[in-house]
Amino acid sequence: MSPKGMLAPEAVSIVTNFEIASSVALLPPRNDSFFYPLYAKAKINMKIYGLLGKNIHHSLSPVMHNAAFKALGISAEYKIFDINEEKLGGFFEKLKKGEIFGCNVTMPYKEKALNFVDAASVATKTIGALNTVTREEDELKGYNTDYQGFIKALLGFGEGDLNFKAEGKDAFIFGAGGAAKAIIYGLLTMGAKKIVIADIDNKKAEALAGYVIGKKKWNSLITVAQDEKQYNEFISKSDLLVNATPCGMKEDDPGLFDYSYIHEGLYVFDLIYTVETPLIKGAKGRSAKCINGLNMLLYQAARSFEYWTNLEAPLEVMRKALPGSVR
Ligand code: NAP
Repeated sequence: MSPKGMLAPEAVSIVTNFEIASSVALLPPRNDSFFYPLYAKAKINMKIYGLLGKNIHHSLSPVMHNAAFKALGISAEYKIFDINEEKLGGFFEKLKKGEIFGCNVTMPYKEKALNFVDAASVATKTIGALNTVTREEDELKGYNTDYQGFIKALLGFGEGDLNFKAEGKDAFIFGAGGAAKAIIYGLLTMGAKKIVIADIDNKKAEALAGYVIGKKKWNSLITVAQDEKQYNEFISKSDLLVNATPCGMKEDDPGLFDYSYIHEGLYVFDLIYTVETPLIKGAKGRSAKCINGLNMLLYQAARSFEYWTNLEAPLEVMRKALPGSVR
């Protein structure tokens, strides 16, 4: 679904709310008989969106989405919904009733959330995980914008992207979790020749390889690297290396592999965006092209915003809203 010229029903109601919101939403609550009813009405009409997950108070999603709503004059607020698993049913009830207009989903609920939506895009079903939920004609629909964000940042859509064409190329992926699934799906749709998966837990990597192979007949070869010797062997012949693990976030994290195997022709994509990881430092030190996960984060957020509003996301506003420390 791309932003449309004609406004969808939701966008029409946004415009209606805008009349109230634009005049009063920025005013502080005042115990004033003239202003207070207007303020209260704007609050009632304010649409709630948010991020569902666990231990997510550090998330950068609220600053990006709230800046986008403000820039387009939409009376909406993006909140954090940090909830326990037993409350998932109640949360999705609120979405279904329209008390919450749409949400992102993150760890650890990206896979479980599929059980609570009425429908999901083909890509989302193939990946087996969603990160965006919309309400469409009283039905909840799941999308995966992580893979879309990854593809954009990989292919080269804007400032600082990697400019890597995956068709006919070999890729090595560290991690066999939710993010790896989305990335592998993206690489397969782009026609990668070979994808090697490595995880601290070999069984997990093998299960993911089996899952991907079983989902559809792909033209790519999908295999698993079992140990460090194989990591180094495969990496020295790969065109692209992706870190889809949290390894590298903490100062005392062990190295993923022997970084001397990074060659000049290797493109390196680290999904981590909070710090400059040893992997990114290792790539820079060997003149390999590299990118962190920030543009992927930005593009996935922009795509989610477009699914909810049917309006083009103000990408540069969202980018600028990110704290300078990560930009
Ligand atoms: P996840 O489901 O926990 O998967 C990570 C996988 O990596 C797990 O299987 C984990 O194994 C494995 N792992 C950990 N350390 C490893 C190592 N040294 N070598 C090999 N495998 C290792 O997490 P996720 O949701 O896929 O996310 C992965 C990372 O991507 C996180 O850092 C997340 O913040 C980032 N991410 C970024 C974006 C973005 O937009 N930039 C989007 C999504 C995710 P164990 O479970 O045994 O630890």
